[in-house]
Amino acid sequence: MTLQEQIYELFLLEKQVRGLNRRLEVASYQHTQMQSKLTRLQTQHEELAAQLKQTQAHANALENDAKDVETRIDALREQMSSVTNNKEYSALLIEVNTLKLSKGKIEEEALVQMEQVDSLQSQLTELEAQVQEQKKLVGAAEGEVQARKEEVGAELADRSAKRDAAAEPIAPDTLHIFNRLCDQHDGEPLAPAVEDNAKRMEYSCGGCYMTIPLERVNTLFTQPDSLTTCPNCQRILYVDDVLREQMDARAAKNKG
Ligand SMILES: [Zn+2]
Repeated sequence: MTLQEQIYELFLLEKQVRGLNRRLEVASYQHTQMQSKLTRLQTQHEELAAQLKQTQAHANALENDAKDVETRIDALREQMSSVTNNKEYSALLIEVNTLKLSKGKIEEEALVQMEQVDSLQSQLTELEAQVQEQKKLVGAAEGEVQARKEEVGAELADRSAKRDAAAEPIAPDTLHIFNRLCDQHDGEPLAPAVEDNAKRMEYSCGGCYMTIPLERVNTLFTQPDSLTTCPNCQRILYVDDVLREQMDARAAKNKG
């Protein structure tokens, strides 16, 4: 096998490995998204539950305050019934009326707090339902990840092993270039040379569509054990079936 053939084989296997990996990544990405939404909902739920607890405690304290005031009013009324002095009676009456006013205010505030408790309670119930729903989605996404693993796992292991075997005879420097180009061009480190005009012998890169000088195209054909790259995008050029047929046809025609 020539270096060009070795690189091309590696390229095809690398593409398959990347494709299989992507299928796994899509599933696990979705799972991660679902899981983080669940975590957000659970945090909201905790915060709301804490707020509810606090509001409920505040409402209870106000109700107790109102009861205390009520007890004091009862005591003052008791006192009034045994008073004979008019002045003392009036003073107690003023105190009772003042306490009644303040009790009214406390009860109003307690009512506001209780309404808040009801509202928080229903928000919490709704959120609880959302959490349960999201848990189902996370479970389904987990199943999807597992299914994808079972589906592509064996194939991925097989292709990865073949890819590694195909990389073995290639020099480390060349592999380094190949891998760098893979990362740069999203798993497309190779590009076919394309014949734009046979008569004028014009060629371009199938990756970036820029012109390739004729001398590089010649090197591509005459030196199959070296790498020919596109001068623009640096992708490794190869001769695809289309170009090979065009060249062979021309060679036959020239012979005849
Ligand atoms: Zn190019």
